[in-house]
Amino acid sequence: MSATTGPAPKRATKDIAEEIPSDLNIPDNYVQHTLTSQKPLPPFAWKNFREELNWLSVVILTVTPVIGLIGAMFTPLRWQTFLFSVFYYFVTGLGITAGYHRLWAHRSYNASLPLQYLLAMAGSGAVEGSIKWWCRGHRAHHRYTDTDLDPYNAHKGFFYSHIGWMLVKPRRRPGVADVSDLSKNPVVRWQHRHYLTLILVCGFLIPTVIPWLLWGDARGGYVYAGVLRLCFVHHSTFCVNSLAHWLGDSPFDDKHTPRDHVITAFATIGEGYHNFHHQFPMDYRNAIKWYQYDPTKWFIWVCQSVGLASHLKVFPENEVRKGQLTMELKKLKETQERLAWPSDSNDLPVISWESFQEQSSKRPLILISGFIHDVSNFIDEHPGGPHLLVKFIGKDATTAFFGGVYDHSNAAHNLLAMKRVGVLHGGMRQGIDDKVVPPSQRLKIARYNELSSPYGSSTAYSDGEGILG
Ligand SMILES: [Zn+2]
Ligand SMILES: [Zn+2]
Repeated sequence: MSATTGPAPKRATKDIAEEIPSDLNIPDNYVQHTLTSQKPLPPFAWKNFREELNWLSVVILTVTPVIGLIGAMFTPLRWQTFLFSVFYYFVTGLGITAGYHRLWAHRSYNASLPLQYLLAMAGSGAVEGSIKWWCRGHRAHHRYTDTDLDPYNAHKGFFYSHIGWMLVKPRRRPGVADVSDLSKNPVVRWQHRHYLTLILVCGFLIPTVIPWLLWGDARGGYVYAGVLRLCFVHHSTFCVNSLAHWLGDSPFDDKHTPRDHVITAFATIGEGYHNFHHQFPMDYRNAIKWYQYDPTKWFIWVCQSVGLASHLKVFPENEVRKGQLTMELKKLKETQERLAWPSDSNDLPVISWESFQEQSSKRPLILISGFIHDVSNFIDEHPGGPHLLVKFIGKDATTAFFGGVYDHSNAAHNLLAMKRVGVLHGGMRQGIDDKVVPPSQRLKIARYNELSSPYGSSTAYSDGEGILG
């Protein structure tokens, strides 16, 4: 077999295939098509667990903590080793958050070659699969969030999205996500090729050798900075798929499960503002406020300051604020809908002056701004005394109410509107003014389809102010 007909051309063909985006020729109805045409593996059960468990992951994720705990019981922890373990936790954790996640999965900044090698090695020390494999899954997670094509679908429960998805063979292949850019990246290829060696060197050898050389604690280094640190990094980063899709609130969008919470941020080296992240995945930040905990962002920023990183991507502030406003309005609309509101003029009976007079002799009716109000259950509670109300029964008290006798408060006007029982025929003035619309309804939140024009700013009150909800 000559060199030209040997494995080399085969490899070249594979390389070319990898350079074509894998999602280039998928059908427009890809998600629906795949979910209906591809049969998932049978549900995981006791009877099939031997074939269906992903034994390599099971061993790594169970044996590591067991070795760590047993090792810790028989190995004294020296303070230098403790500090180094914490430091190495951040190094390998940043390999995942700043490297795997924000650099390679999301391309949120450019990293120089030395920084890329550093991040690839640090990430290898976190033992979470190669960059290429990890990013393939993570891009599918973003594209198909909360569906069966999302490899760690949060709708399948906390345990599944945290670790369960790795313990069993995937019931479905993750949805298609292109990683052709990573296939071309020399650092990603290098790491993929030497992944096993890199795990051993960066995951175990380095954290053992450094404490051994510097303060003579090889065993402590292996147990604490190697094995136990690895368990912490594992569960810390796994929290991004579980805790970050479960705990907290959705200040930018509530369509899917991602949430923002400071506890998650502390647990994940700053990946806890996950609601923001799923909305603006290309942004190099997870936390947008200076006081929020996002060491990954700070690390990337420092790398930029010393010339190791560039082109840090930031989503336009205006669009970020729109997302926030939408969610704030949504909450306000819920509050608005929980309150009782006065009847609209269209829903009230139109009453003639004669009928108003006649009915006023039977119950206390007062005319204000064209509306007839029944004040029977309020006469004794009127702060100015009942006589001022009695005086206006069957009469128009508009001027008296709006400053003629007393310039009533907003609260009084709101309460008055609740007592509407009818509209006086011909009593409404042309147009609408503040006397007709109670203060609590001058600014209100309405969905676009509740407005006369979806692009206008008017509400049901043609002259009122409105907000699109
Ligand atoms: Zn997520
Ligand atoms: Zn992400």
